[in-house]
Amino acid sequence: MPASSAESQRSPERDRQRSPERDRSTPRLISALCRQFYELGWVSGTGGGISIRDAEGVWIAPSGAQKERIDPDDVFLLRDEVWDRVEVLEPARDPALRISECQPLFFNAYRSRQAGAVLHSHSLWAVLAARLAGVGAGPDAEPGVFRSRNLEMQKGLRGHGCFDELCVPIIPNTAREAELSDSMAAAMDAYPKVDAVIVAGHGIYVWGRDWVEAKTQAECLDYLMRAAVEAHRLGLE
Ligand SMILES: [Zn+2]
Repeated sequence: MPASSAESQRSPERDRQRSPERDRSTPRLISALCRQFYELGWVSGTGGGISIRDAEGVWIAPSGAQKERIDPDDVFLLRDEVWDRVEVLEPARDPALRISECQPLFFNAYRSRQAGAVLHSHSLWAVLAARLAGVGAGPDAEPGVFRSRNLEMQKGLRGHGCFDELCVPIIPNTAREAELSDSMAAAMDAYPKVDAVIVAGHGIYVWGRDWVEAKTQAECLDYLMRAAVEAHRLGLE
């Protein structure tokens, strides 16, 4: 996570490139959601991120920025439907900012699951739940599965009732975020019934048909991972 100034720098040249007709409600929403996720401990230390797709294209938060202070004008707009490359329709207004390192991972969910929104959290509960499931945080870790059953909050996850067994794949971490792309795609193919992939020692990717479903599922999964960790701490089955 490279360092970045908290205050946005303005570029007159970039201002001239911006379309005044563009609907900017989604970048404003991304800015507000990042503040909420910061309060939850999901995007502290400039980690984590979010992307939402609308009629304009794919909006994506910048990399390495203080997520609770993102200016809506610093959210990138990318062309959708071209998932094999990145085509920037509108860059961040601050020329120092770069597209989120999560971009290829977000594109996995857009391409293979027709997602409308994807978020990435660095929640401590995801890190501890992966350890509890026996997946180490080092580079030689083997993939695993986080399992949950008999909890009401499972009903917030697509296709799950409270007495079903929930299985979320866990993949080992890599030195660079973008290197997770292939193993994330393989885990998504292997677990089509769930809209999330946990990354050991790192966090979790969660998506949905729209931002409301992505956020709801991320909150429910965070609760379930925390429930597993706290139950273990209390010595419960
Ligand atoms: Zn990350």
